Amino acid sequence: MSKKQKHMLDTIRQEAKFTASYTGRETFDERVMQAMQAVDREAFVFVSDKDLAFEDSPLPIGYGQTISQPYMVALMTDLVDVTTEDVVLEIGTGSGYQAAVLSRLVRQVFTIEKIPELAESARQRLKALGYDNVEVRSGSGYHGWKEKAPFDAIIVTAAATHIPQSLVDQLKPGARMVIPIGLPYMHQELMLVTKGKSGTTHTDSVLGVSFVPLVMADDEDSINPYDGSNTG
Ligand code: SAH
Repeated sequence: MSKKQKHMLDTIRQEAKFTASYTGRETFDERVMQAMQAVDREAFVFVSDKDLAFEDSPLPIGYGQTISQPYMVALMTDLVDVTTEDVVLEIGTGSGYQAAVLSRLVRQVFTIEKIPELAESARQRLKALGYDNVEVRSGSGYHGWKEKAPFDAIIVTAAATHIPQSLVDQLKPGARMVIPIGLPYMHQELMLVTKGKSGTTHTDSVLGVSFVPLVMADDEDSINPYDGSNTG
């Protein structure tokens, strides 16, 4: 492990401790930390940002979007409690980094990206790096991915104004979803939605976060007005 990588993992461990009173998790699963170590974040950022790849901060990936902060990727991955048999849906592929981390831990990752150019470059990047249990679809993830549902876990990596019912419907009994909820540039909270064995859902707020917005069903056709200066 390089010095920079060790720095990234140490920062995630520290941050996990700082936020334990909110998240209920003092440390993250060792498997999650191993996946964070195994996936080279440098391969998911602009060449000009390689020096910053292992810093615990989001970075631009073009089109006003960002690759999430490593701690946030680790936290969201940890919160959904996946196993090696699981099939997971991600909404907001972006660079493909979160999908790559997940792919190390589960059987299959399905991921949807709204911006066609980002979907295509993530698909190519993941293929070149050998993450062959990830399928990238270009389009809106607001309605989930019906043909591949139900899922053992869903991770939404852009902030929604409410929890989309279609995503809740695509969770298996016992499954979990993490989703940032709130308005762009306003207070947002990472929510953990758990579907009980009987199908009833339970929602907990985990902690305050800052993500780029999820394009919702009613504004699908609007032009993205955001400049990527927020930190999701
Ligand atoms: N998970 C990404 C970070 C993504 S940032 C990574 O690891 O790099 C959030 C992404 O969600 C952006 O790429 C944005 O284009 C995408 N997005 C926003 N609304 C969406 C929607 N309705 N469906 C699918 N993707 C969406």
